Amino acid sequence: MTERVAGVRLAPYTTLGLGGPAGAFVEAGTAEEIVELVAEADRAGEPVLVLGGGSNLVVSDEGFDGLVVRVASRGIEVEGERVTAQAGEDWDALVALAVAEGWSGVECLSGIPGLVGSTPIQNVGAYGQDVSQTITGVRVYDRGTGEVRDLSAEECGFAYRHSAFKQEPGRHVVLAVTYELAGNTMSGPVAYRELAVRLGVELGERVPLARAREAVLGLRRGKGMVLDAADPDTRSAGSFFTNPILDAEQAAELELRVPGFPRWDMPGGAVKVPAAWLIENAGFPKGYRRGPARISTKHTLALTNPESSATTADLLDLAREVRDGVLEKFGVTLVNEPVMVGTGL
Ligand SMILES: Cc1cc2nc3c(=O)[nH]c(=O)nc-3n(C[C@H](O)[C@H](O)[C@H](O)COP(=O)(O)OP(=O)(O)OC[C@H]3O[C@@H](n4cnc5c(N)ncnc54)[C@H](O)[C@@H]3O)c2cc1C
Repeated sequence: MTERVAGVRLAPYTTLGLGGPAGAFVEAGTAEEIVELVAEADRAGEPVLVLGGGSNLVVSDEGFDGLVVRVASRGIEVEGERVTAQAGEDWDALVALAVAEGWSGVECLSGIPGLVGSTPIQNVGAYGQDVSQTITGVRVYDRGTGEVRDLSAEECGFAYRHSAFKQEPGRHVVLAVTYELAGNTMSGPVAYRELAVRLGVELGERVPLARAREAVLGLRRGKGMVLDAADPDTRSAGSFFTNPILDAEQAAELELRVPGFPRWDMPGGAVKVPAAWLIENAGFPKGYRRGPARISTKHTLALTNPESSATTADLLDLAREVRDGVLEKFGVTLVNEPVMVGTGL
């Protein structure tokens, strides 16, 4: 078992490059070690933060007063069309493997940073795919009962950027995830207009897996959404705000303010509104700056720490300014997508 180290700064472990020190920091190389470390901390009443790739985290400048367990368990098992990966495997490496092996179902999720174990937490998604479409089981350590359990996809309660894991934060530690992929060298039906245009196909058509991956990576790079040390716009936590989902009444109110506002109609009368459109039209264009924190110059939804000179407080000041501006102009409350540690909006 690796040693606990006190006072490790968390900033270098997050893609935003933000966050103060951890009370104690330890890397867990196997599922058993993860369970042992978390169970021991729970028995001692010590707060625990499970850390993956740090790409969906906003950690306070004061840091985390407890034990940070960095997930580093590795291993991929293939049984027919079922692929089970340990939580510490790199997500994009798994996607690249799937594309190379001719396993269809995750190709549009190329270029998303972070580890396998985090993918079920917010039901990672992009370009018309999300992991709820392929996950068939998640092995977890349930801190409520002290047991290792295998959850079915149904028990994971997946929804748009949401799951049962987000519902009860911290209760489940993901140890391994099983994805059922189709043995097929062609992609799933292309379900996202921007991707279809890039590929020069109609919505619903299929393309070779490698072409889908390349097209997605190209689109993502153009938005600063593939980690790149040379691109300051990628010093972010991805999209900072989710696309708000309005009920029919809220949608009618917005229609009164902005007739014909852009929308995706959802089952049951709900309406999803593009957060980027709300933000831009509330007066926050790409590149909008507040001190050392900036909206990405390529993607309105990403808040960045471009020169690595911001603090978490600076970034949250910008986030609050954007949220409040959108609320005032449109009456819609934006909700943050990244997980806040020791802080909040
Ligand atoms: C440039 C960029 C682009 C992005 N694009 C997308 C995108 O297109 N779509 C999308 O959905 N997301 C996107 N994201 C967000 C992020 O990459 C994903 O949410 C990713 O799954 C987070 O993985 P991580 O390992 O970095 O998690 P972390 O940031 O380390 O952790 C996130 C949360 O999950 C918890 N967690 C981590 N591992 C475990 C575990 N094993 N068990 C239990 N809890 C755990 C943490 O405690 C924390 O609450 C993007 C981020 C960046 C920086």
